[in-house]
Amino acid sequence: MARNSRYDILFDPVKIGPVTAPNRFYQTPHAIGTGHQMPHTDAAMREVRAEGGWGVVNTGYCSIHPSSDDSPLLPSRLWDDDDVREHALVVDAIHRHDSLAGIELYHGGSSCANRSTRITPISASGISINSTYPGWISLTQSRSMDHKDIADMRSWHVDAARRAKSAGFDIVYIYAGMSFGPYQFLLPWLNKRTDEYGGSLKNRVRLMREILEEMKEAIGDTCAVAIRFSSDDLLKIKGESMASEAHEIVSMLSDLPDLWDIKSSDWTVETASARFVGEGGQESWNSFAKPLTTKPVVGVGRFTSPDEMVRQIRGGILDLIGAARPSIADPFLPKKIDEGREDEIRECIGCNICVSCYHDSVPVRCTQNPTAGEEWRRNWHPERIPLGDSKKKILVVGSGPAGLECSRVLGQRGFSVTLAEKKKELGGRIIRESGLPGLASWIRVRDYRTSLIKTMPNIDIYLDSPMSSEDINQSDYDQIVIATGSRWSTDILSDSGYPITGFQSNRIFTPDQILNGATLLEPVVIYDFDHYYMGGCLAELLRERHKEITLVTPANAVSAWTSMNNESWRIRGRMIELDIKLLLEHYLIGMDESHLQLTSIYSDSEITTIEAGSLIIVGVRTSEDTLYKELIARSEFSEHSGVSNIKSIGDCVAPGTIAHAVYSGHEHGRNIDKQTSDIRYQVERPSLHL
Ligand code: ADP
Ligand code: SF4
Repeated sequence: MARNSRYDILFDPVKIGPVTAPNRFYQTPHAIGTGHQMPHTDAAMREVRAEGGWGVVNTGYCSIHPSSDDSPLLPSRLWDDDDVREHALVVDAIHRHDSLAGIELYHGGSSCANRSTRITPISASGISINSTYPGWISLTQSRSMDHKDIADMRSWHVDAARRAKSAGFDIVYIYAGMSFGPYQFLLPWLNKRTDEYGGSLKNRVRLMREILEEMKEAIGDTCAVAIRFSSDDLLKIKGESMASEAHEIVSMLSDLPDLWDIKSSDWTVETASARFVGEGGQESWNSFAKPLTTKPVVGVGRFTSPDEMVRQIRGGILDLIGAARPSIADPFLPKKIDEGREDEIRECIGCNICVSCYHDSVPVRCTQNPTAGEEWRRNWHPERIPLGDSKKKILVVGSGPAGLECSRVLGQRGFSVTLAEKKKELGGRIIRESGLPGLASWIRVRDYRTSLIKTMPNIDIYLDSPMSSEDINQSDYDQIVIATGSRWSTDILSDSGYPITGFQSNRIFTPDQILNGATLLEPVVIYDFDHYYMGGCLAELLRERHKEITLVTPANAVSAWTSMNNESWRIRGRMIELDIKLLLEHYLIGMDESHLQLTSIYSDSEITTIEAGSLIIVGVRTSEDTLYKELIARSEFSEHSGVSNIKSIGDCVAPGTIAHAVYSGHEHGRNIDKQTSDIRYQVERPSLHL
């Protein structure tokens, strides 16, 4: 199909210093949990973005010196010439598709605890800021940089820039944002220096200017030198002659960098989930810059809508459409717009599972794109899947994320697929969960798949069709896939998995019952030991209908796991806003007609009693695997007999996140006709210095 002319502007080339981006799609620097330890994984993941049409593909933050050691997180590294090779591998992969390759050089200053290298952290004035990640706060303070340190900081940038150039990069960044080294010089509360690097704004900007000038001198003939700059703190400081210091900094340096990449200084703000912030949510921090420079400006905003992208360009906000999450969810987003296939875009849902991978230090996972992180080790391409035997008939039972993804993959592979769903609608858990406060965009998990499935002539869909083992046994399918999901349970478990028993009441409910419209007596208590979104979302949902909601949890935070996906503080804030009572660090130990008994997690003797008309338990889920077990019991085949005829996937195997279910469905769709021994799984291996 031809491209919609409305979107032509997105495909204009953009000059960035000595290089030219072929279009305005700009994958901004972002870590993908590979660091310097998994160069093949990194190269393959970046390559599919280039293949998918991103005109610029950047790698992740790259440490320039051992004094910037962010372990246990995984930046990449350019500490010496031996580190160049891994980067060259990635650059070559990006260049194979004629995209520009960018690298974000970074020195973390006092934000790095240097846990591995054990070098005392350095900063403008020895004022430490937390190494921002939960539970990973540095116990080491930083020391003030002297003139030798400042000279070193400049030469580390220049040396790393030269190495980046030799690896083949086209765009090389200095990172003056996100609480890192050069940014710490800009902020008056972190820079208390009385020399020429402190005091006036001109002095605080000096280090950044020197690094920029020296990098341009060293590599500017062939490489663009870009700056990543956080503006939100500086926008709040009134400037001498302009609205803010952020305005003054951009106008002071104006055309010195070849590109301005502008963002928030707080990663949890920059990566706000869709539950709290919509598309284009960074505009208040990046829209001020364009009138102050003739150089291109890029910014992110979880852009998935081409119309919104066009608005950003035509409205003079950005020149390049920056993206991290949308490029993870759909590496082929630009190509789909270019080919008039925007309705095939696998839109990011803003769930931030990808963000949690960075905290886990594992290759990126994505709810929408199960191939993310698997491009090299499993040889999974986000768009192409080898064809299968079109004569093979496959039945998929259940149309939640696992069943839908499996059907989509099998359909794309050419199998003859029947998808049977007992409800009147496709989508499984997505239907109800996307109705929870803030989760509307999660319906994209269903819609992306159903819109493709409905165009495939080799997929028959049967709604309102509960399947029994008798039905299936009388059928002549070659393969059966059971994707019947899971249900919430009222079981209460201790941290060690020990069951807490004695809770028998018709006033105890599961999330399933609440979402089916159960009537509750006041006051309502939610006991949450699931620790993800369900407890908090139900509290929000019910607060609209009930006067009093109390959320009790053994954890020390509401929705405790969400510190991993950067939602935690916003969820707590929302609870405060809505006047939802929180009782943290308590176990539920008893219940009578009108009250619950709780105990502190720290002391059995500290008993608290609270009034409860209804109790909702958000804890564990149980697989809906009866059908699967019946089939296995009747079948002469089993999963353990080589190519299996019957297989369960998704929550039916083990309840998990939607990302787990999509992945499970995808994996089975790919491997349904493979022997276990044929399934590829490559591992990265460190090379040994001799
Ligand atoms: P997952 O996350 O693993 O995809 P879901 O709970 O979202 O699981 O989806 C399971 C789907 O399976 C639901 O839509 C449910 O209605 C459907 N289902 C469960 N049992 C049957 C059955 N016996 N026949 C057909 N569909 C079923
Ligand atoms: Fe978007 Fe969620 Fe995928 Fe991250 S994991 S890219 S937020 S869909």
